Amino acid sequence: MTHPQHHEIVVIGAGICGATIAHELLERGKSVCVVDAAHSPATACSSHAYAIAHPHIGKGSPRLLRLTRLAFLLAEARWAQVWRQHGIFQPTKKDRIFDREEVTAHLRSLELDEDMAIPLSIEEAEKICGISQSGVWLPRGACLNLFETSQQLLRAREGLTCLWSTRITRLQEQDGRWNLFDAGGHLMISADKVVIAAAMESKALIQSLGVRVPLKPVRGQLSIFAVGQHDSWAKKLPRVGISGDGYCLPAEQLADGSYRWIVGSSFDEGEDDLAPRSSSDDFNREQAKSLLAYPQGSAESLIQSGEFVGVRCVAGDRLPMIGPLNQCPGIFLATALGSRGILWSALAAKLITAQVLEDDFALLARLGFAADLVAALAPARFFAGAFAAPGALASNSKPIFPSEPKAK
Ligand SMILES: Cc1cc2nc3c(=O)[nH]c(=O)nc-3n(C[C@H](O)[C@H](O)[C@H](O)COP(=O)(O)OP(=O)(O)OC[C@H]3O[C@@H](n4cnc5c(N)ncnc54)[C@H](O)[C@@H]3O)c2cc1C
Repeated sequence: MTHPQHHEIVVIGAGICGATIAHELLERGKSVCVVDAAHSPATACSSHAYAIAHPHIGKGSPRLLRLTRLAFLLAEARWAQVWRQHGIFQPTKKDRIFDREEVTAHLRSLELDEDMAIPLSIEEAEKICGISQSGVWLPRGACLNLFETSQQLLRAREGLTCLWSTRITRLQEQDGRWNLFDAGGHLMISADKVVIAAAMESKALIQSLGVRVPLKPVRGQLSIFAVGQHDSWAKKLPRVGISGDGYCLPAEQLADGSYRWIVGSSFDEGEDDLAPRSSSDDFNREQAKSLLAYPQGSAESLIQSGEFVGVRCVAGDRLPMIGPLNQCPGIFLATALGSRGILWSALAAKLITAQVLEDDFALLARLGFAADLVAALAPARFFAGAFAAPGALASNSKPIFPSEPKAK
């Protein structure tokens, strides 16, 4: 029998998460092998070309707010070359009244200065963003093409090996190494350290190690609408991104005068069906009306002309799972990016690389990774009985954090 290839570090999954981690390891001078079930990078959820990123500014948990700020800064710096910065407007929630002083104080408490987040009255928003609603303007908010970015990150270079069309189904430790097997039980490859970045399929891989993690799929559909040049919607279409209940990109005028407008997304808990649905387009038409505060807009004028359907991987507490699997030394997880693939993959690249290369904590702290933030992301949070409220429901803006570590 020929020996399988052995690598110091193998990354399973060539979506935006695995690709970004592999790239960071390569930049740090390591050799990396990326293995993916598909024939090329970013064929699954990261085939998404219209993802947006901005720091979270809601009233969510302080740790989520700190994490998204840190992740946003890391993402912006990492992808400066391909960052489509058009700015993102976040309208005031429908049940709230805009109070500039209150909003300013909240933004400053999040360490978001004028450069990152500016409260706007209706009149100011009209002038700056062309939107007749009050809210917060995030001038550095941007769109990133996850597909192109993943492809670029995994361009052939020294130190990078890619194994395509190779689905790993089982991991097993032997003599201090990790053996990776395919569905036929063939030993495909071995490694000292393995990073599992296989989104939903991470669950089965981790289960092959005898460990259960609470991951579930959430289907989502983004709609690409065509709007006629003379339609009443045309005057309303935004020239900036909007993020509220759903999100949209700036509308783009085409050569024939009509507009192309991308609006999303449905959020179908527990579902993983990739077939497009007209009901999801209808849902997005309603989101479109809400985002623009244009309830009288005719839904029929938003003509379906394309879509993106993907399956998000979400953890029980709605935070990503980034860190070592302590039960299995040498195994690291980077999964459950949910709806924040840009932010969490930028953060995972720095954190996982530091952990794989065993950087000292001072280095991590200099990047902004305080100990409580690292603990909030660590897979270990699911094994320590850390949740204060059993059965409590988490949501994207209200994830459940493990209780604060107690001082000894
Ligand atoms: C409708 C919708 C809208 C979204 N909008 C945004 C947004 O605006 N902003 C944002 O930041 N994020 C957004 N997201 C989320 C973002 O798309 C995801 O978080 C991100 O793409 C996940 O990347 P990933 O690398 O973890 O997973 P994936 O891209 O799914 O990659 C996983 C990879 O692992 C491989 N794989 C799986 N199993 C195996 C195996 N057993 N062996 C080998 N390889 C394997 C797969 O082939 C795949 O290439 C959105 C998602 C959806 C669905």
